[in-house]
Amino acid sequence: MSGTRADSRQTMAADPGMRERALVRMAEVVGAAHAIADPDAQMPYLRELRGLYAGKAALVLRPGSTREVAQLLAIANEAHIGIVPQGGNTGLVGGQTPSADGSQVVLSLARLARVRAVNAAGGTMIVEAGVTLADAQAAAERAERLFPLSLASEASCQIGGVLATNAGGVAVLAYGNARALTLGLEVVTADGQVWDGLRTLKKDNTGYDLRDLFIGSEGTLGIITAAALKLYPRPAETAVALAALPDIDAVAALFRLAEARGHAGLTAFEFMSRFTLELVTKHIPGTRLPLREPAPWYVLLELSSPEPGGMAEATLQRLLAEAAERGVVSDAVIAATLAQAQALWRLRESASEAQRPEGGSIKHDVSVPVARIPQFLAAAGMAVERVCPGARPVTFGHYGDGNVHYNVMQPAGMDKGAFLALWEPMSHAVHDVVASLSGSISAEHGIGQMKRQELLRFKSPLEIALMRKIKAALDRNGILNPGKLF
Ligand code: FAD
Ligand code: ZN
Repeated sequence: MSGTRADSRQTMAADPGMRERALVRMAEVVGAAHAIADPDAQMPYLRELRGLYAGKAALVLRPGSTREVAQLLAIANEAHIGIVPQGGNTGLVGGQTPSADGSQVVLSLARLARVRAVNAAGGTMIVEAGVTLADAQAAAERAERLFPLSLASEASCQIGGVLATNAGGVAVLAYGNARALTLGLEVVTADGQVWDGLRTLKKDNTGYDLRDLFIGSEGTLGIITAAALKLYPRPAETAVALAALPDIDAVAALFRLAEARGHAGLTAFEFMSRFTLELVTKHIPGTRLPLREPAPWYVLLELSSPEPGGMAEATLQRLLAEAAERGVVSDAVIAATLAQAQALWRLRESASEAQRPEGGSIKHDVSVPVARIPQFLAAAGMAVERVCPGARPVTFGHYGDGNVHYNVMQPAGMDKGAFLALWEPMSHAVHDVVASLSGSISAEHGIGQMKRQELLRFKSPLEIALMRKIKAALDRNGILNPGKLF
């Protein structure tokens, strides 16, 4: 594996004296206050919130400018020191976590937190990598514009991390993922040069698209220090509903109906299984099911309208009535106030968090062609049962994007460690079903450490070879996020 190759190359080149001198110089670049060597103070940067991945670091560095990032990379490249870029540390595949041997440096972009410019008329803004997604949304809103990307982790995740993982979330259906919302980037290369690609053009066909190469590269090709992002008009109104449905085919039917009646105004179509919502109402304080009876499936729908006058809500009402007539929806509630809308969204956004107290969970973030979701769930359910009888799928996600968060919860009462030891056979089984339906083993979270082996199973040797050539061309010494992706 090239990850291992990069690691060994790094060790070979690391003359200990040179390495130590380089670390001292790197600390000097950011200043003592922003170079963290104490393991206790490093702790928040060394493990992710679920505790699935943890590592050690020679240093945690918090540069305050693009120039400092460039200086750090020039030194690291010379001394062959592995750099692990980190934003909000909310990634779910271990991409932002350093290795266990303590040889790598964590580079936190959190202090690059300036909104450099908002151009409401041009529909663009330029923000630095450490701006949180929520702050980017707020900057757009102050200019009476919309930055539509929205994830449950938006209060913590940062634009650099969002772009490095090409994040998706709940608004992809209408506005696309992070890639679709990005016009330009500023990137520091592995050898410490600054590429100013902060263009704000909608059209630009001038050769290879370097921007799209860096987006989704999970910190393995360059450090994103700023981005030019697309802004949209804010909808005048949105209407949100939670619907209960009798089976997964009804979810598919409701989606087709919602697309037909909602058109471009259909801005979210999220689905959750009964068990998912049970975990939410059991483990997340202040949440409750706002419907009369539990049902096998739930859908959270949002319609938006560019004009005021109650159009979004009226369309939603008609749509749900039609769905009820056809037997597709058994019950539904439309939020009457902003607080009610937020409460409905909270049910969906708590789905990840609600699993932790219940026990061990083997995570899958997969996509299949939308119409094949019911087929996927049926086949995956059988595959799970073969690997671990009694395991409980926690099924939810972005139905309209064909993106299922298919997390498999341990059987009640089983030892957590014994269940998590089944990670590999379980993932193999689920991913084989995905592949048989022409899907993807990572719809939005990326590869990181978690899916490195699986990537090799599903990409053709040619695709892997081309990816490795790109990596070698942009990061000759293998210093950028070693051990991730490959
Ligand atoms: P980090 O976790 O810090 O890093 C992620 C990756 O990007 C790592 O490989 C890291 O090395 C690299 N990286 C970070 N910053 C930079 C940079 N400046 N330059 C180069 N590389 C960099 N993801 C979705 O796509 N959709 C969802 O709906 C979604 N929901 C989530 C819900 C919850 C509750 C949680 C905890 C996570 C969710 N995620 C989701 C995953 C995660 O929040 C996103 O992937 C997010 O984009 C990561 O941003 P971050 O700043 O936390 O990045
Ligand atoms: Zn998601």
